[in-house]
Amino acid sequence: MNTIPASSTNVTLTTAPEGIDGPGFFATSIDKVVGMARKNSIWPLPFATSCCGIEFMATMGAHYDFARFGSERLSFSPRQADLLMVMGTISKKMGPILRQVYEQMAEPRWVLAMGACASSGGVFDTYSVLQGIDRIIPVDVYVPGCPPRPEQVLDGILKIQELIQNESVRRRETPEYKALLSKYSIE
Ligand code: SF4
Repeated sequence: MNTIPASSTNVTLTTAPEGIDGPGFFATSIDKVVGMARKNSIWPLPFATSCCGIEFMATMGAHYDFARFGSERLSFSPRQADLLMVMGTISKKMGPILRQVYEQMAEPRWVLAMGACASSGGVFDTYSVLQGIDRIIPVDVYVPGCPPRPEQVLDGILKIQELIQNESVRRRETPEYKALLSKYSIE
C-alpha cells in the first residue's frame, strides 16, 4: 500500500496557542487550549429568512469553502449548535421564535448578525420589522451589507473565532455576563 508522506500533503495545522515550549514539553493555560479547540470546531445554526440566506449558501459552496474553518457541519437543532447566524429580515412576529431558538442553545453560544436587516432592520423601517435582532438577543458580531459578500461573512467568522479564542472558560459564570443576559430577561 502506498502511503503519502505527511510533508507532501496540503494539510495545514492550526497555530499553537501562546505558551512555553522546550525539548519534549509545551506548557500553556487551559483557557488557551479550550479556546483553540472551540474556535476551530464551531457548529453554526443558520437562521435564514430571506436574501442574505442565499449569500450564505454561496459562502458554503466549494469556492469559499466554510470547511476550512472547521464549520462545515451546520446544525438545524439549537441543542447541537454554538453559533447562531441570523441572516435576513426578522419580523416582529418572528422575534419570539428567534429568541426561543437562542434560549434552546447551550452555553457557550455566540451570535452573528449577517446583513443590514438582521443588524438594524435594513431598509425596512416599518411597523412590522424588528429593527435589529439585538433588541431581543445579545449579538457578538455584526456583518454589514445588503447583502454582505461571502468574503465579509468569512471575515465575520474570523472575528467570532478571535472572540472564542480569547474568551475565558469562566466568562459565562461572571456577573458581567449574567448582567448582560438579565438585560434581555434571559436566565
Ligand atoms: S440585508 Fe439586504 S440582502 Fe440581506 S435580507 Fe436584508 S434586504 Fe435582503
